[in-house]
Amino acid sequence: MNARAARTELEQARIETIPGDVPAAFVYGADATFRSPESLFVVIPATEEELIAAVRILVTHRIPMTPRGSGTGTTGGALPEGSALIFTGRLTGCRIDAGDLIAEVEPGVLTGDLKREAEKQGLLYPPDPASHEYATIGGNIATNAGGPASLKYGTTRDHLRKVRLIDGTGTVRELGAAVHKFSTGYFLPGMVCGSEGTLGIVTRAWLKLAPYPRFSSFIEVVAPTYDDLAAIRALAPAAMEYLDVRAGELVTGSRQSYLLIRLEAFTEAELAEQERRFSGRLTADGRFFRIGRDKKEIWAVRELLSPLSYQLGERKTAQDIVLPFSRIPEFLQWADLLRKRLPAGMELFVFGHLGDGNLHVNLMCGDDLAVEAKLIQREIIVQTRQLGGIISGEHGIGRERREALGLFIDEPTRELMRGIKKLFDPYDLMNPGKVI
Ligand SMILES: Cc1cc2nc3c(=O)[nH]c(=O)nc-3n(C[C@H](O)[C@H](O)[C@H](O)COP(=O)(O)OP(=O)(O)OC[C@H]3O[C@@H](n4cnc5c(N)ncnc54)[C@H](O)[C@@H]3O)c2cc1C
Repeated sequence: MNARAARTELEQARIETIPGDVPAAFVYGADATFRSPESLFVVIPATEEELIAAVRILVTHRIPMTPRGSGTGTTGGALPEGSALIFTGRLTGCRIDAGDLIAEVEPGVLTGDLKREAEKQGLLYPPDPASHEYATIGGNIATNAGGPASLKYGTTRDHLRKVRLIDGTGTVRELGAAVHKFSTGYFLPGMVCGSEGTLGIVTRAWLKLAPYPRFSSFIEVVAPTYDDLAAIRALAPAAMEYLDVRAGELVTGSRQSYLLIRLEAFTEAELAEQERRFSGRLTADGRFFRIGRDKKEIWAVRELLSPLSYQLGERKTAQDIVLPFSRIPEFLQWADLLRKRLPAGMELFVFGHLGDGNLHVNLMCGDDLAVEAKLIQREIIVQTRQLGGIISGEHGIGRERREALGLFIDEPTRELMRGIKKLFDPYDLMNPGKVI
């Protein structure tokens, strides 16, 4: 590896770089884990061609590299840790093909911008991570990002139809096809999605769009019972989010759990019919609920939760587990008992995309309880496994969850994954030390 020669070559190719030891490089290197390990240097391509040329130069010099979008990842996947950091944020090309219901995007496009571009043409790009105003599509693809809409539409993986990837040999591969169905050999975009930059760097993507449902309505159910969860899910809401009692207390001051429901429709009549169905059921069951068309008013508790959580402690460690839907009550009861035996100064709250079994389990504390927090996280992971769940539904493994991966994926399967990585990345240059 000859970092100096690689950087000189990048400069000769007029591709912007910045040295790894200047303050700007630390800004690029940081992510939502609040850490910023040093990079060799930062590469800032301005076009897809520059991105491809830069990766090829790095491959020639056997320089390990870490792609980075906005650095909102919560598992340390974009931390450079001594590699060259490739910032894709300047690649923001976005074209909507309304006829084919396909968006062709570069990796630096913000998810929110893609959603707005689609909306201008009466279309919907459904994945809606809470970070959509600042996370990139490249990062979304790499982590298989999701959000409340995943219940109805699926995650990023369900929308990725084709991807252009530069792999660890410098080869540009076109995987999948810009069409809505595919049964033509292995569907490799599905594998690239969620691979967190370990197979290569996404330089362009083709994503499926949907017609935009113009009408929506929101319901807040206070203190739902466990039986309610299954009954409401059976009515097929578009989204179904949950806040446990501690999360509810944090945002409302009253110790209650909340279920938040979104309904969607293409016509007023269709929405009114759905509202009647849900209200009827909740009224018959004697539940206390509010229903309305103003998302801000009805779903305010959900929006406020993340920023308010830091009132409970400056250090957050979180899991985004996925459980079989039927085991959720058991997990929530277990979490209530866990809360009772937490050390003083530590708080636990659970919220998330309950409809698809994806719960965010958050521990808040100060730095003085870091060791205890790690042990309790371990308990949460073991409990998840015992209930037949998995460790991540949308945030990925990155660096932080590598150790726990072995509890959920057996060694022969991990060996298979390592073999797949080797095919894409024989010199182990693509985001080494992450995922597997
Ligand atoms: C407040 C907050 C709320 C969040 N809410 C959600 C949520 O609701 N749902 C959800 O799914 N996530 C959520 N996240 C996590 C995060 O926003 C997502 O993981 C997002 O997809 C990361 O995008 P990014 O551009 O910030 O990527 P980064 O953090 O920069 O990178 C994430 C991973 O993607 C890889 N990567 C980036 N670009 C490329 C590329 N072009 N090719 C290959 N690999 C690449 C990186 O190497 C890294 O492994 C949240 C984060 C925060 C801070």
